[in-house]
Amino acid sequence: MDREVLRVTEDDGFVLHCAGPGAYRRRAGESPAEPALDGRADAVLFTTPTFITRRLADWPDDWARRLDDWTYETAVVLLLELRRPFSSTYWTNIADSKVPFLGLVEHTNLVPAERYPARYLYVANYVAGGDPLTRMNTEELLHHYLAALGQMNPRFDRNDVMRYWSFREEAAQPVPRIGNRHRVMPFASPRRGLYLGNTTQIYPEDRGTNYSARLGREVAEKIAADG
Ligand SMILES: Cc1cc2nc3c(=O)[nH]c(=O)nc-3n(C[C@H](O)[C@H](O)[C@H](O)COP(=O)(O)OP(=O)(O)OC[C@H]3O[C@@H](n4cnc5c(N)ncnc54)[C@H](O)[C@@H]3O)c2cc1C
Repeated sequence: MDREVLRVTEDDGFVLHCAGPGAYRRRAGESPAEPALDGRADAVLFTTPTFITRRLADWPDDWARRLDDWTYETAVVLLLELRRPFSSTYWTNIADSKVPFLGLVEHTNLVPAERYPARYLYVANYVAGGDPLTRMNTEELLHHYLAALGQMNPRFDRNDVMRYWSFREEAAQPVPRIGNRHRVMPFASPRRGLYLGNTTQIYPEDRGTNYSARLGREVAEKIAADG
């Protein structure tokens, strides 16, 4: 459902106050609630990042502090549509502090280019929330990366890039700390009927789609068991 939940309140069950369709295309929390779109539920599972879960409902202090304790790295993604192959490799991890990105994924080296209009290279990065890269626009990001792309492939030319896009995801990677298992929050919150299921609870593995599917099954079992 294309609906941002702005707030969850209690009134003979739970009420989900929603923004109208299209709210996701604006900044989170900026669209007004549309009362006609209120949803009702006996139980609510928050699958949102912890900093969003934190503001969507009233929480007891200790639970709120545990939510606040989680931070995330932001993903900064630049997608290049190329005229010709960049390399013959699908996935390259980069651990070189002189290179301003962390990985290159040439998707059309996995799924053949014949199935796409062109060739696609995904330039991956994970940075702290306030990092300048999170504020660069697409043009600036491409410009910032060009020299390193040229170093990795001297035949690469700016004119190889036909179109380009950039994307940001603020809650891309929960940041673990020593003793992480003690920070992992249970599914059931102290407020009966309100549950939490997100990537901060994947342990001891790191986040990944398979683990989220497993987490979803486990939390659903917990909710069903609580009746
Ligand atoms: C750049 C990048 C690359 C990745 N690559 C891989 C990979 O190669 N392999 C792999 O296994 N995993 C990968 N992952 C991880 C994978 O995407 C996540 O582990 C998975 O998507 C987590 O699923 P989720 O349902 O917990 O959260 P999400 O998929 O983040 O879903 C949370 C949803 O909540 C919605 N939401 C947020 N706020 C609200 C609100 N107020 N109201 C309603 N809805 C809201 C969001 O729009 C979102 O759709 C990658 C992640 C990133 C960021």
